[in-house]
Amino acid sequence: MALTAQLSAFTEAVDRIRISSSVWTDNFGPRPRGVVPSLLIIHSISLPPGQYGGPEVEQLFTNTLDWDAHPYFQSIRGLQVSAHFFIRRTGEVIQFVDCEHRAWHAGQSVWQGRPNCNDYSIGIELEGLEGDTFELAQYHALATLCQDLARRYPIEHVVGHEHVAPGRKHDPGPGFDWALLQQLTGWPAQRFAPAVF
Ligand SMILES: [Zn+2]
Repeated sequence: MALTAQLSAFTEAVDRIRISSSVWTDNFGPRPRGVVPSLLIIHSISLPPGQYGGPEVEQLFTNTLDWDAHPYFQSIRGLQVSAHFFIRRTGEVIQFVDCEHRAWHAGQSVWQGRPNCNDYSIGIELEGLEGDTFELAQYHALATLCQDLARRYPIEHVVGHEHVAPGRKHDPGPGFDWALLQQLTGWPAQRFAPAVF
């Protein structure tokens, strides 16, 4: 697939969504006609797992990862995925897919009986590992991002990948502090997955 990733830096708010930079990817498609995002899905990812700060996640999302660079990459060779946002350990927010489009982050999934969560969700990846904790800078960036997105879209819930693909996915995992995210957003508990409180 041709790579059309473009890198551009923003210091000002873009459409009221405060991001650090954007790295556009081809890994997206249209949302179903008339569907607007109403669900935020939180993920965790690091490549190789548990190693932070490198370029590998951006490379995965832009189909430029060298599959032979690490033994772990053999297990995900050829994978074409993306998320709308990636929040680094430093709190840097990188956007890969316009929120109007459908990113490829949730896979087979269902929330409150509604399948195919990618159709109606926004995917936010945190640089991290299931079971590991996350940085305070990431919570602050995530809470700001959630609030920005909720001003733009009718966001009903914010949940983890583990809540829309139970048994198959386990991120962001037990190290993620949902109560802290609730506190920082000021959102009611009902906006989160019942399992986390
Ligand atoms: Zn995930």
